[in-house]
Amino acid sequence: MNPRRKDDSLADFYEKLGVKRVINAAGTLTRLGGAPMVDEVLEAMHAAAQWSVRMEELQEKAGAYLAEVTGAEAGYVTCGAAAGLQLAAAACLAGLDLRKMELLPDTSNIPNEIVTQRLHRNAYDHALRAAGAKLVEVGHIGNPARGYTDPWHIEAAIHKNTVAVHWVYMDVRGAVSLEDTVAVAHKHGVPVIVDAAAALPPAANLRRLVATGADLVSFSGGKVIGGPQASGLLVGRRNLIDSVALQHQDMDVLPLTWTMRHKFLDSGKLPGPPLQGIGRPLKVGKEQVAGLLTALRIYVAQDHAAMRNEQIRRIKVLQEGLAGVPNVKGELLGLEGEGYPLVRIVLDEKALGLTAFDLVNRLFDEDPAIAVGQEGVADGYVTVNPLSLDGDKPSLIVRRIRAILSS
Ligand SMILES: *Cc1c(COP(=O)(O)O)cnc(C)c1O
Repeated sequence: MNPRRKDDSLADFYEKLGVKRVINAAGTLTRLGGAPMVDEVLEAMHAAAQWSVRMEELQEKAGAYLAEVTGAEAGYVTCGAAAGLQLAAAACLAGLDLRKMELLPDTSNIPNEIVTQRLHRNAYDHALRAAGAKLVEVGHIGNPARGYTDPWHIEAAIHKNTVAVHWVYMDVRGAVSLEDTVAVAHKHGVPVIVDAAAALPPAANLRRLVATGADLVSFSGGKVIGGPQASGLLVGRRNLIDSVALQHQDMDVLPLTWTMRHKFLDSGKLPGPPLQGIGRPLKVGKEQVAGLLTALRIYVAQDHAAMRNEQIRRIKVLQEGLAGVPNVKGELLGLEGEGYPLVRIVLDEKALGLTAFDLVNRLFDEDPAIAVGQEGVADGYVTVNPLSLDGDKPSLIVRRIRAILSS
């Protein structure tokens, strides 16, 4: 099958393979392959695929653009925010020390602690441990206020084995702010790694987080930015980004012909090129770089207020479309503030004889299937995220829900 044939549309591809297509009303979830990409991004990836390039040169130029957009010293394209966290940890563990680069993830004889607030623990911090870091948790455990954390908790945990402080952009009460975290860490010369995978919207966070002085900030490219699913951007201090590049790029190189020989060898910064590093399995394709840069360019130029109004219009179609249905209620959330607007579809499960779990599964029955947010299923509701619901998708979802509830 030649994938370039005109009649091989994407829909045909999945149909022939026997894979159900999904209308994504759940947001930019990785397990759904993220959101569909716009033509301009796909065209950039197509164009980039036509030539080979030196990846280190492509990363250098791409990084300059990422730095410009975020206000950071330097930037790097990763294969996702989680990969960015692993690379960030590797950079903080090894710096420009070739021996340490070679040892990772074995950190038994080198400083290896990353301090994190108990409130910020989440399953993605596995990426930090994958580089060889040991997480040191701080903050109240139980009473008087679960998880409540003070700056001094972080400070007291910093000592000679500390290589970084981890901070996550998430909606939790009682956590130390990024500004205070940076102040405490920098007082002791320790860098701060920020998990900013879920920090957009608002677009202003692209610059805000870096402006706090945070040393490495990892964003997803495949979420709201609309880049390839396996893309991300890591931005921050030049010396740390250099360490990332050295531990990520393919290192089957010779000192006398290595593209980076002037920067690292002639300058005396390194005695030679490192070996393949801990980041080598986190490969980034040239197409991902092209797609991410294009998506980011479109994202920063977007009229974000108009976009938000459009998203609110979409969830109102859902709310109004379900208005007459007995035992179902559409509640709009997030109309204020800077995050996503959402609609929560609350079921009277007893009266309907149908649980929110059932509704999630029934919405998957047809092709295309419909995926909704499941975070509230135990409480009897599902959510709809309007991000990918262009065209008549909102009314199609209404029709499908009505059909399920009346069957
Ligand atoms: C989505 C997410 C990640 C992972 O991002 P990827 O780009 O999918 O690797 C990490 N941390 C948080 C808080 C997230 O929401």
